[in-house]
Order: sequence, then structure tokens, then C-alpha cells
Amino acid sequence: MSARIIDGKTISADLRGKVADAVHRLRRDRGIVPGIAVVLVGNNPASEVYVRNKSKAVAEAGMHAFDRKLPATASEAELIDLIGKLNADKEINGILVQLPLPKQIGAQKIIAAIDPDKDVDGFHPLNAGRLASGLPALVPCTPMGCILLAKTVRETLAGLEAVVIGRSNIVGKPVAQLLLAENATVTIAHSKTNDLPAVCRRADLLVAAIGRPEMVRGDWIKPGATVIDVGINRIPGEGGKSRIVGDVAYPEAAKIAGAITPVPGGVGPMTIACLLLNTLRATCAQNGLPAPKV
Ligand code: NDP
Repeated sequence: MSARIIDGKTISADLRGKVADAVHRLRRDRGIVPGIAVVLVGNNPASEVYVRNKSKAVAEAGMHAFDRKLPATASEAELIDLIGKLNADKEINGILVQLPLPKQIGAQKIIAAIDPDKDVDGFHPLNAGRLASGLPALVPCTPMGCILLAKTVRETLAGLEAVVIGRSNIVGKPVAQLLLAENATVTIAHSKTNDLPAVCRRADLLVAAIGRPEMVRGDWIKPGATVIDVGINRIPGEGGKSRIVGDVAYPEAAKIAGAITPVPGGVGPMTIACLLLNTLRATCAQNGLPAPKV
């Protein structure tokens, strides 16, 4: 048996189209155009590509992108000052600070300086606390994407045995919280977990957010399980070129799983689509409007 492929490219394109339609209606009916500030400190080449892609996607969704760049030598105080200005700017509904930051700047301090209502990355401790408390929150984009993908192949996540490998604040923990909110029975595994393969074999829904290329083998997968692979790992490929693989050994896992996300083309494209959705939601909330139907 070969697993159903969960096509993140198509699913994210569909979501982006729905967000763009909702943005169009917001502009037409209320004269409101969502705005997002994308802040880049320094000139890390990978971050520059991410920021460019995000700004392009924002514009394609009919929103305003305000790019803000600071030099690699910028101080923590300078960045906090910029965030203060963006917090106060009525044209800006969402603020995204591209990580990682130069070493003189503490990421946690910067995240905490963002107005939680404009925290479209969903990393602010207040939003993390709201999510953990079951209150309305801006939710981190990649975890939201994982849930949306899983729901395309499962009528409900309620009652499923879910295993999340990874406990980072930006992926593993929020994925686990979201699964709990969907009434799954959730186990969070990490580098100190005993007999990880046996833990994974229990999972109807397995989410791998580890950062270790192809660590999850085919015989770790319960037959018929849904596998969501968050990992993005660059490994040497043929002819001296590199290639991207996930945290799951895809060819093996696809023979056992019921459904699986490929890498690339699975979770990755969902992240930007969910960022657009978060920006739309934040804009509606800031204008006293009901949550958009997307
Ligand atoms: P972190 O490095 O912050 O966290 C990795 C987690 O994996 C940790 O909790 C760690 O455990 C656990 N882990 C590491 N090694 C093992 C092991 N041998 N056995 C079991 N658990 C292990 O990574 P992130 O959460 O930021 O990212 C995870 C992956 O997802 C990366 O490949 C990253 O590139 C990708 N990613 C993809 C995104 C997308 O848009 N698709 C967005 C964000 C991330 P412990 O806590 O014990 O150290």
C-alpha cells in the first residue's frame, strides 16, 4: 500500500486564495487593508530569501507589506524602539521579526516587545499562554499548518493517539497544544524519550519536528497512520548539489502510512499561508469585526 500524499502546495494555494478573497471583501466593504511589517536585522542570506517570499505573498493577498531593515550591528534598544513605533502605527496590523537575530539581541525580549494583538507569528508569551489556556489566540503559523493538513485527510482528530516529536516553543509545543484543543490524546517526545520507535508506533497521527534528516524510519510508523513531517534538512545530494529532506525517511514511511506530507511541498508552503490568515484575523480583531470566514 502506498500512502496518500498530503499536497501542501495545493492546500496552501487554496488557503491563500480564500484569504485574498476575504481581504478583497474587507477593502471593498470597510475600506480596510491589512498591513504587516516584516522586520529583518542584518543580512543573513536565508533570512533575506524568507523575508522576500513573505513580502511577495503578503502583496499577492492584497495586503500591504512594510519592509523594515536594520543593520547587523543594530542594538537591542534600537530594535525595541522600532517595534514600539510599529505597535503604535494604525496602518500596521501584524508585526513579524525574522529570526534568528544577531547575537547581541535577545529574541525573547524582542518577541515580548511586540503588541500581542499584532503578534502574527504567535510567539508572544501571552499568545502561548492563551493557547495553553484554551482562549482565543494568535497561533504559530507552522503548527497551524500541520493541523490544517492533518484535517484534510482525517474527518476529526478527536480521540486520535497523537505523537509529536519535538518540544520547541515555535513548533513542537504549540502543535501539541493545538492537537489537545482538537481532543486528540497527545504525547510529546523529545531527545530524552525512552524507546522513541515504540512511542511512535502508537501514533495514529505522528508529527515530526526534530531537525534530524530522515530520523523517523518506516518501521516506526503504525500502518495507516497520518504522518506530518515538519523537518527541513539540507543534505548532500548527487553531483555535489544539496537536497532537502524531512525528519521522516519518506520512501519507507510512504509504504506504511495512510497519508503523509512530502518534503518539500508539505508543511513548508502552509507556513506563509497561515501567516496571511493570522494577519487577516488580527486585522479583523483590531477593527472590532468578527473573525473572517475562510
Ligand atoms: P529545535 O531544534 O528547536 O527543536 C528540536 C526538537 O527535537 C527538540 O525538542 C529536541 O529535543 C528534539 N530532538 C532532537 N533530537 C532528537 C532525537 N534524537 N530524538 C528525539 N527528539 C529529538 O527545532 P524546531 O522545532 O525549530 O524545528 C524542527 C524542524 O522543523 C527543523 O528541521 C526545522 O528546520 C523545521 N521547521 C520547519 C518549518 C516549516 O515552515 N516547515 C518552520 C520551523 C521549523 P530536546 O528538547 O530534548 O532537545
